[in-house]
Amino acid sequence: MPLTAEQQAEIDQQRATPRQTLRAVSEGMEAHLYVPHPVLDHGLVRVVDYMGDDAAICQAARVSYGTGTKSVQNDEGLIRYLMRHWHSTPFEMCEVKFHVKLPVFVARQWIRHRTANVNEYSARYSILDREFYLPAPDQLAAQSAQNNQGRGEVLAGDEAQRVLDLLREDAMRSYDHYEAMLSQDGQQGLARELARMNLPANIYTQWYWKVDLHNLLHFLRLRADAHAQYEIRAYADLMCDITRDWVPAAFNAFRDYRMDAVSLSAQGAAALKRRLAGEAITQETSGMGAREWREFQAVWG
Ligand SMILES: Cc1cc2nc3c(=O)[nH]c(=O)nc-3n(C[C@H](O)[C@H](O)[C@H](O)COP(=O)(O)OP(=O)(O)OC[C@H]3O[C@@H](n4cnc5c(N)ncnc54)[C@H](O)[C@@H]3O)c2cc1C
Repeated sequence: MPLTAEQQAEIDQQRATPRQTLRAVSEGMEAHLYVPHPVLDHGLVRVVDYMGDDAAICQAARVSYGTGTKSVQNDEGLIRYLMRHWHSTPFEMCEVKFHVKLPVFVARQWIRHRTANVNEYSARYSILDREFYLPAPDQLAAQSAQNNQGRGEVLAGDEAQRVLDLLREDAMRSYDHYEAMLSQDGQQGLARELARMNLPANIYTQWYWKVDLHNLLHFLRLRADAHAQYEIRAYADLMCDITRDWVPAAFNAFRDYRMDAVSLSAQGAAALKRRLAGEAITQETSGMGAREWREFQAVWG
């Protein structure tokens, strides 16, 4: 994530000139404000603005005139109640705006989350940088034999080198041709909006991404999950840490009632009750399909 000296100076200057405010401030989030956190080989996440804190959630839930804080313990209890009962709108009162630098194939997954506001770097207007995602050795893996939507054994030795060389060579050749096609250096060439079409999906793009806390948590639930692709998970894991620092009570409730919680179908609940009563249950007698049964057993043994 190499920033230019100019970019770093801008960030340093923003952090060096704090202003007094009457607005709610989260001390944990203040520490993150503007700071770029590296992700993957050239990516980053940084918070450029935010609104609200744990108390703002309680304030909205109580529709109160003041800070809404009766006591930290009361607030935590209320936040946990709201999360447990899917009373979600108070969480929408907090907002955050991220600056994210990410490979285009990750951006394609990320953009499916429609409940955010996005502004992306324009490759019609600007020339893209020569920056491509190349997986670290432990992420160069073969197709999973069990999961059609996942990766399996990590590549080693010559095979790892072979695919890495192909990825690097293709990226460099595409970028060389991109540069050679652009209308610049005295040639007629192609407009930026057209020349970019030969660039591979591992080139980096950037955007500002603004979302409320409720929808951010939904994003994190899906993308910081073991089923999500590693590359988007790397971003989501980091954003979990930032969110924990921003709204610790809300994040802890989210972790307990969403992320680390287990949901049961009607058949699953019935099977569990029968098992607790001493009955031996099989997939055939459980009323569950083979896949649901496997998932049930993975959690309950
Ligand atoms: C592990 C994993 C695998 C995936 N695989 C695929 C795949 O193979 N192919 C594929 O195309 N996608 C895939 N997706 C993307 C997935 O289907 C969702 O599009 C994505 O996760 C965004 O979720 P969302 O719609 O809930 O989020 P958001 O767009 O942020 O929406 C949040 C919530 O708002 C509501 N909402 C938003 N917009 C509408 C609307 N127009 N109408 C009704 N309700 C709305 C819904 O309740 C929704 O859950 C995958 C996602 C994950 C996490």
